[in-house]
Amino acid sequence: MLQKREKVLLLRTFQGRTLRIVREHYLRPSVPCNSPLCPQPAVCRNDGKLLSSDVTHYMIPDWKVVQDYLEILEFPELKGIIFMQTACQAVQHQRGRRQYNKLRNLLKDARHDCVLFANEFQQSCYLPRERGESMEKWQSRSIYNAATWYYHHCQDRMPIVMVTEDEEAIQQYGSETEGVFVISFKNYLDNFWPDLKATHELCESILQSRRERENESQESHGKEYPEHLPLEVLEAGIKSGRYIQGTLNVNKHRAQIEAFVRLQGASSKDSGLVSDILIHGTKARNRSIHGDVVVVELLPKNEWKGRTTALGENDGESPSEPMPTGRVVGILQKNWRDYVVTFPSKEEVQSQGKNARKILVTPWDYRIPKIRISTQQAEALQDFRVVVRIDSWESTSMYPSGHFVRVLGRIGDLEGEIATILVENSISVVPFSEAQMCEMPVNTAENPWKVSSEEERERKDLRKTHLVFSIDPRGCEDVDDTLSVRALDNGNLELGVHIADVTHFVTSHSYIDIEARTRATTYYLADRRYDMLPSILSADVCSLLGGVDRSNKALADSLDNANDPNDPIVNWLLRSMATQAMSNALYFSTGSCAEEEFHHYGLALDKYTHFTSPIRRYSDIIVHRLLMAAISKDKKMEIKENLFSNKDLEELCRHINNRNRAAQHSQKQSTELFQCMYFKDKDPETEERCIADGVIYSIRTNGVLVFIPRFGIKGAAYLKNKDGLVISCSPDGHSEWKPGSLQRFQNKITSTTTGGESVTFHLFDHVTVRISVQASRCHSDTIRLEIISNKPYMMPDTELFQQSSLLLKSDLVKEVTRSMEEAQLAQEVKVNVIEKDYQKYCQTKGRSLYTLLEEIRDLALLDVSNSYGI
Ligand SMILES: [Zn+2]
Repeated sequence: MLQKREKVLLLRTFQGRTLRIVREHYLRPSVPCNSPLCPQPAVCRNDGKLLSSDVTHYMIPDWKVVQDYLEILEFPELKGIIFMQTACQAVQHQRGRRQYNKLRNLLKDARHDCVLFANEFQQSCYLPRERGESMEKWQSRSIYNAATWYYHHCQDRMPIVMVTEDEEAIQQYGSETEGVFVISFKNYLDNFWPDLKATHELCESILQSRRERENESQESHGKEYPEHLPLEVLEAGIKSGRYIQGTLNVNKHRAQIEAFVRLQGASSKDSGLVSDILIHGTKARNRSIHGDVVVVELLPKNEWKGRTTALGENDGESPSEPMPTGRVVGILQKNWRDYVVTFPSKEEVQSQGKNARKILVTPWDYRIPKIRISTQQAEALQDFRVVVRIDSWESTSMYPSGHFVRVLGRIGDLEGEIATILVENSISVVPFSEAQMCEMPVNTAENPWKVSSEEERERKDLRKTHLVFSIDPRGCEDVDDTLSVRALDNGNLELGVHIADVTHFVTSHSYIDIEARTRATTYYLADRRYDMLPSILSADVCSLLGGVDRSNKALADSLDNANDPNDPIVNWLLRSMATQAMSNALYFSTGSCAEEEFHHYGLALDKYTHFTSPIRRYSDIIVHRLLMAAISKDKKMEIKENLFSNKDLEELCRHINNRNRAAQHSQKQSTELFQCMYFKDKDPETEERCIADGVIYSIRTNGVLVFIPRFGIKGAAYLKNKDGLVISCSPDGHSEWKPGSLQRFQNKITSTTTGGESVTFHLFDHVTVRISVQASRCHSDTIRLEIISNKPYMMPDTELFQQSSLLLKSDLVKEVTRSMEEAQLAQEVKVNVIEKDYQKYCQTKGRSLYTLLEEIRDLALLDVSNSYGI
């Protein structure tokens, strides 16, 4: 039996009129309660995720707690959380889609013990809003009422703690029902989770940021930015073609000035625009941040501007022709993430002056604006890489406001810098959980893993009939493919490619499957890797099983045309540039793309997919499941797999593409980190190894891009310096800076001095470069290249080239690791010495250097150990 009610919504239109919308609302006698204590699970239809039976109480957060503290509720230690529908809807209306999606993902996540209760559809829980009652009061009343119902529904067997920030609600309901407690969030953490230190710190940090914001909105008068338009207006404007929707991309090299909006979906067709839209200056960006989905209004043509075409930070170069230019009028989706920042040095803090508690911190990513953080710890944090989150960006504030989350490590320390790269690429590297490991096969010396006899009957064993071998390089741990070859009766040879049957162990929607899907790929950094699947699969078991399949096309074939017989380095460069074009290929669901769009640009193939590395690529796992389903269907067998719908697959492709980009970026950034660490202490003027041969592989308006084979370094070399002088080379090749000008052609660039000397650099020319490091406190260090001669530097031996360059690259990583370990040891010794001094001399217990050092050490240890939620 359903009861019909009418629910009234009041919406305000852009013109300021109030719109009354009446929605029919159906009430049911029962909705899923998802509790293992339910007396009638069949009536409740509890067929989804259940709360754990291993809890001392259930926790029900009020709407405001869900809004403000969701990142704490995400901690896996907090169990037995019931999210009321009323609270979820408040989040959707107040905090937007991103926060709401986070909440929905949390509810779906089988690894987190929390459930949704649809209180507004349950006939005893639903309360109509009373005349004159504020929305907030009604929400709190509804949630409390539902909490009481839930308590009785579980036959009064499980205490319920409702957590609210509303003091009046605590007064009013606190002692109304025995077994249902109403307390504040801080009180809840203090009483129930006194040892979960990370949640307390985060809570304090969020509270402080909120207090500051409240104070500020009372003080502030002037507006820095125009207000954003209401959602309905934005949507209508996009529909009518007046506004354009797209993703904001900030130019890393000119972050203050240049951003582009990449058109999305229908926008590009309807607006007739073919290019990106330029957003010039931070005012026009109107508080949107790199990655946000924004709505843009085009400026009149006479206000359009050109984009810069110069390399890096050199300015004053001629901009391109004017291009469509616009300003942001609203933000549809804020893609805020965790940001790594650096606090200002002591001197800078003092110069920030009057509001010393509000500190402007600089994000590691150049594209992100400075963030205001309320903290009293600024001085203690100044030597560390720190994670912060943005809370809001009011129109009255020049910069966004955020709060401190945790310390990653010391600036310049290998581990701190690697952690920075991981956070910046949203890569989570927590160890596999117990629940996940329990699903893995056992393979120990006493109890070796074997194929079950049932499986053996279903599979073809080729080991006796075929010659099977692996072509993975020696020492490669994840051997997931092998080849076989045998002579056929007709004299032909049969070549087989055999891929490990990983999906046999990774069943759909198991814990390990969800984890692998989240990771999407194995991440390879310069000196380490983070696996997509536990090593029990990658290291042993999966090299035993073989699914049979026909061969795939070899990638190397199509590269054979790129060849210069005289210069092996240029050959190698051409190949690497071609491979780069291939690695930019994206996954897509064939269900959402016309067949003529299937082609692979890099490989010039009409159709292409791969499935050879299911151990380290989730996309290959999907293909394996599809293959198994196709084989089952052919054999008229039952299809075991529950396959993804096209919509889910589309979403998954987006996720995998995003994770692959993260894997590429983190690999590149970690390689550059090692390169910088290697060259950092070397004096480029005197050290032999700072001079090397380089090959020009790209021409720009004010310089060239150079590849240095000896170290595998790629970077920019300017032909015009900051003083406007240009490069000039004497007859013996030696370079100097002189007044003059540059002229760029398609495949070369010429520098001419006012004295009439000129030098031309061609694509793939060899030059001699000096390598140095440009240090940066807030961002990553960068390698600087300077052309010191337009002649090659000792042509490397043709045959030795590839071997020696690889050798040197891994040597570089080894040397940096060794020297970092030594530095760390030295640091530990230093601390010990101070400790001894302290005991010996019984120094005062005031804020000496010693106590400060200890505090910082604690801070670093504590926060590194709690590395979830990255
Ligand atoms: Zn129930």
